[in-house]
Amino acid sequence: MGEAVKVAVRVRPFNSREKAEGAELCVSMDRNSTKVWSRETNYEKEFNFDYSYWSHDGFIEDPTTGVLKKDRPGSKYADQQMVFNDVGVDILNNAWEGYHVCLFAYGQTGSGKSYSIVGYGPNKGVIPIACEEIFNRIKNSGNPLVKYDVKVSMLEIYNEQVQDLLQPPERRVKGGLKVREHPKTGVFVEGLVQQTVSSYEEISQVLDDGNKHRTVAATQMNATSSRAHTVLTISFTQIFHEEGTGKPLTRKQSDINLVDLAGSERASKTGATGDRLQEGSSINQSLSCLGKVITALAKKSAGGAAKGEVIPYRESKLTRILQNALGGNSKTTMIAAISPATFNFEETLSTLRYADQVKAIKNKAVVNET
Ligand code: ADP
Ligand code: MG
Repeated sequence: MGEAVKVAVRVRPFNSREKAEGAELCVSMDRNSTKVWSRETNYEKEFNFDYSYWSHDGFIEDPTTGVLKKDRPGSKYADQQMVFNDVGVDILNNAWEGYHVCLFAYGQTGSGKSYSIVGYGPNKGVIPIACEEIFNRIKNSGNPLVKYDVKVSMLEIYNEQVQDLLQPPERRVKGGLKVREHPKTGVFVEGLVQQTVSSYEEISQVLDDGNKHRTVAATQMNATSSRAHTVLTISFTQIFHEEGTGKPLTRKQSDINLVDLAGSERASKTGATGDRLQEGSSINQSLSCLGKVITALAKKSAGGAAKGEVIPYRESKLTRILQNALGGNSKTTMIAAISPATFNFEETLSTLRYADQVKAIKNKAVVNET
């Protein structure tokens, strides 16, 4: 039983280079159906996800009839607010009820993961809009018997090392922070800073500082893209007090995990060599472990796993940290970010297949109330 992980697919628009080169489309959307095709191999595959976001501007060609149409009438031309209204609002509602929640973005470098999760400049993504909304909701709660406690932590996994992004680079721990397991509360990162925040301005400042501490390395595919996984955790607690005495009675606690994964492309495509290749293969190792975990969980959810079969969470830092989010006590959503261009067909197909497996995973979220 349990509740399935929700999956949203989002197509980014053509970038200026692709437009200049007259790049061809290999994706179309119609309501919740996403089609991807390769003219070269005469291959076509259709997928269905919980949400489908079309960001493409202009005309697209129907893959079977070749007719040009103005966008897909049934698919959503999605801006940041629309994605937030579906995915972000759900996250906040669940956090308020006391569930752990997780949103992670998967896709090749340059497909729109950071755009969706973090955003750029005025095009705020899910994280900044959610942060703003958290403090709006707190301000407008109108119930003096509920007190709120909001803490943030932010980490990066780079070459299988966990580093605290709320610490400046000179305070980085050699070899990375240790991931440990508490018998009651589960997996945690030892020594990770948890910063208490009490306003949107404060949390924005903390996130800005955290972003400045990221390890950013250039690859051919996207010069500014991070080759690391970034995990932002907002620990949100509501403390309910007794009327009259004002004594604290119960509390609800939610971990809100917002994850911007490293690019999912194979190292060869980035044109990486030497150190960069080493880096690339390690990232792929970590992501491939995520892939193994997802495959194992999908199989288990379908009742196909052998009794006692171990889910290989422990084989990478990423899967250990996301253990709860995948196959555990969490309400989880994935954003599969894809490119519209034929050039990226293989990666797009691979991302959609991945997303299709994730859709099959079932979690058992419970309200965390004490
Ligand atoms: P990733 O994090 O997956 O490597 P980015 O989020 O940095 O990719 O996106 C790459 C580029 O594409 C950025 O310049 C970004 O602004 C643009 N982009 C991505 N998705 C969208 C979208 N849905 N709408 C408009 N621009 C987008
Ligand atoms: Mg990015």
